[in-house]
Amino acid sequence: MSTILIDGSEGEGGGQILRTALSLSMVTGQPFRMEKIRAGRPKPGLKRQHLTSVEAAAAVSRAVVEGAFLESTSVEFLPGKVIPGSYSFDVGSAGSTTLVLQTVLPPLLTSDGISRLTVTGGTHNPAAPPYDFLLKTFGPQLERFGPKLEWHLERPGFFPAGGGRFSVTIHPVPQLTPMEWLARSPVRRRTARALISRTPESIARRQLVVVRQRLAWEPDECLVEPVPTARGPGQALLLEVQTDEITTVFSGFPDRGRTPEDVANEAIESVERWMKSDAMVDEHLADQLLIPMALAGGGRFRTTEPSSHTRTNASIIRRFLEVDIRFDQESSGTWLVTVSGKRNPGGGTKDSALRSAT
Ligand code: ATP
Repeated sequence: MSTILIDGSEGEGGGQILRTALSLSMVTGQPFRMEKIRAGRPKPGLKRQHLTSVEAAAAVSRAVVEGAFLESTSVEFLPGKVIPGSYSFDVGSAGSTTLVLQTVLPPLLTSDGISRLTVTGGTHNPAAPPYDFLLKTFGPQLERFGPKLEWHLERPGFFPAGGGRFSVTIHPVPQLTPMEWLARSPVRRRTARALISRTPESIARRQLVVVRQRLAWEPDECLVEPVPTARGPGQALLLEVQTDEITTVFSGFPDRGRTPEDVANEAIESVERWMKSDAMVDEHLADQLLIPMALAGGGRFRTTEPSSHTRTNASIIRRFLEVDIRFDQESSGTWLVTVSGKRNPGGGTKDSALRSAT
């Protein structure tokens, strides 16, 4: 097989390009070489989270790798056979554990045995899916493709102390089933959870005041949730919106110079953008569903305007798999994302009937 050459500065130019290439290289057995890794970011090259993703992918697929060191801006990855089993990965910093998991998940969804993965590091990081998003949003939708997942959070980990840990057991299936997410049912339940670890409770309370004012959620829907097991101080605001088909966890995280109100407003604006549309799938789930859909050989979903992550992910997926991924804006303002293609390794057949999440 010839090596696929990828320019890591393409599109979004971030870590996702590398993770998607690793996932699909493992699934297809296709080697790749990536240059200019994370060239679109202020500090390019491999950070701890990305290096752990490369190492995790290499362990799961018995790969031969060149360039796997911190700050490396090019990596060559030659995968071997994917071996299901028990694996532990440690980011070694507060870098995102959930993104490491998402890297190695795709080949294990259709491998020939059960796997159990444990990942240590940050579980609630800005600009990454918080653990709760995997547990309640991404995980249940992934199960619709066929595999079963069992999650266990040992303790949360926040920046800068990290040290969070979760594990997931993956029960694979021979093939993923094509799925669609089109019609959204009314909201059945809403919960705002302000997590706090060794930080003043007043921060959480100030965030929840904004949630009640701007979203008109009731006091009993807004909870302060201390997390005494975390290794260091930290905080996250999680806004969970449940419909019949899907629970979406929107989130906000403190950062230097941001007030609790800024954090709340960021999460609230994501909820409002989604609520105002007829979209079933939010911006983040949209980019994360593309890989399993492409492996299933088809599917559709209705979402808000595709992010640059979503479009870049589509372009990297097309480098590895013979799929067509279309983005069509609808008259209502929502976007219909359609994946169609040939049967892919571990994926569905072209003529498999689409199953609806509705
Ligand atoms: P970078 O290269 O920017 O340092 P990275 O490796 O952490 O980044 P990105 O390329 O930016 O990653 O990809 C981030 C991923 O995290 C995307 O899949 C995105 O949808 C997801 N994500 C970001 N924020 C959230 C959120 N609040 N909820 C769920 N998923 C999120």
